[in-house]
Amino acid sequence: MPHLPVRPFRELFQLFFPALCCHCGEPLVGDETDLCTSCLAQMPWAHNAATPDNEVEKRFIGRVPCQSAASLLVFHQGGVAQSIVHHIKYYGNLRLARQFGLLLGKELLESGRFGDVDCLVPVPLHPLRKMRRGYNQSQLLCQAIAETLRIPVVTNNLVRRRYTTSQTHKSRQDRMDNMQEVFAVRHPEQFADRHILLVDDIITTGATTENCYHALSGIPGLRISIASLASTAF
Ligand SMILES: [Zn+2]
Repeated sequence: MPHLPVRPFRELFQLFFPALCCHCGEPLVGDETDLCTSCLAQMPWAHNAATPDNEVEKRFIGRVPCQSAASLLVFHQGGVAQSIVHHIKYYGNLRLARQFGLLLGKELLESGRFGDVDCLVPVPLHPLRKMRRGYNQSQLLCQAIAETLRIPVVTNNLVRRRYTTSQTHKSRQDRMDNMQEVFAVRHPEQFADRHILLVDDIITTGATTENCYHALSGIPGLRISIASLASTAF
């Protein structure tokens, strides 16, 4: 069987259809994938995993009694973190999800503050939305984090039972009203005396995480930590 000249074909293809940076839209060159060197250089790393009482933890004071919380990136409207979240969430960029999930997992591991977490729990999508999208972006992140932390991902216990409409243009109170009793736990005993890491793609007001906690509260001995790919600045 003849050896196909894959590289020349790929280079010819890229000449006419160049891969573009998912943030600035400039053509990628050399070994660049998904993001150009310039956008990588301006990545808004949060670097808060190792810091007690960090910005993410402060957001949940009086709302969710969490052991530790961290985000990998700081989210700004129109910023590179928004592009990454959108490309994972709406364009199914699995490579970005794995790349940044691994980076988040590494930060959590190196911080030494998430070492006794028993399992990863992605914030669930409603089954109908998951079916339409084809995947749950938080679950993709969990799968990459799990490679680093070497703990299981539990996807079938915390479930979303109401299909909520978009939260984007709602006020904080409307969001809270919209999220009441959205989540439920199928087998509370499975989480008893465990330390779970609740993982979401982005934390804004924290309302989604807080409503997950409402479903989880009351489970004896349960401890909760929180991690997200990005969180908005205060
Ligand atoms: Zn770029």
